[in-house]
Amino acid sequence: LGGQLIDTEFIKPSYGFIKNAADPNDFTMIFYGGAVILNQDGHRFVNESISYKDIGLIALQQTNGRSFIVFDENIRLRQLESRPPEAKLWENLNKHSSHVFFAETIAEAARRAGLHPINTEKTIHDYNEMVEKGVELPFGRKSLSGGFGKPVKIERPPFYVMPASSGIMGTYCGLKVNDKTQLLRSDGQIIPNVLAAGEIMGGVHGENFTPGCGFGKALAFGRVAGETAYSLIQP
Ligand SMILES: Cc1cc2nc3c(=O)[nH]c(=O)nc-3n(C[C@H](O)[C@H](O)[C@H](O)COP(=O)(O)OP(=O)(O)OC[C@H]3O[C@@H](n4cnc5c(N)ncnc54)[C@H](O)[C@@H]3O)c2cc1C
Repeated sequence: LGGQLIDTEFIKPSYGFIKNAADPNDFTMIFYGGAVILNQDGHRFVNESISYKDIGLIALQQTNGRSFIVFDENIRLRQLESRPPEAKLWENLNKHSSHVFFAETIAEAARRAGLHPINTEKTIHDYNEMVEKGVELPFGRKSLSGGFGKPVKIERPPFYVMPASSGIMGTYCGLKVNDKTQLLRSDGQIIPNVLAAGEIMGGVHGENFTPGCGFGKALAFGRVAGETAYSLIQP
């Protein structure tokens, strides 16, 4: 129909999905509970407390696009309490659980996950030492998330390693509409009788997708589209 697409340059993946994620609960924010994120060489590469939307892009830039979330038993138990939807990922783990590898030592958990075991052990050892001393952590991690909470040591077995990936939770971009949600061509002309609202429309988020704005956009512009549709069918 010649509709114009806008904001495609802003599309960004969010971080924290298991490999081959199949539904929204295959997603974790356990790094905001104290987990660290390592590349396949066993090194940290990002401040884990920043937005998961910004971690997503940085993670994809690592060797082979691979990264791993590493945590301990304390962090797993706290995450189950603080974010109940993650029960699907962190409850009833056993040797058949394919999304996370665990063992009594960090090196063994890392080895099982395909992560460099010696470097991983050293990274966690150094991280714990810095947390204990209260010095600023590399990549500027000062909190668990958004300035809140203090980073914690990764020290209580079993230790867990989850191969993680990034996924699209919102497109950021989409079809250009006017304030009545009518679809526009690139010359600004209205395409008759076609409306777009919610995820399929662009022009709302810009570079940053603030949590809640996906549903907010769908509700607000869905309502406008309803009103426009009603006005169009009035005799
Ligand atoms: C994992 C995940 C987590 C998210 N978390 C949040 C969050 O915390 N907060 C937030 O604000 N947003 C979040 N979002 C984004 C939010 O879910 C979407 O922005 C919102 O659901 C968009 O609503 P919508 O009605 O526009 O589109 P959708 O919910 O995508 O609805 C479109 C519907 O159209 C149907 N459809 C498609 N093609 C056709 C066709 N040809 N004929 C008929 N029907 C068709 C689809 O089946 C679907 O039911 C998340 C998204 C994902 C994937």
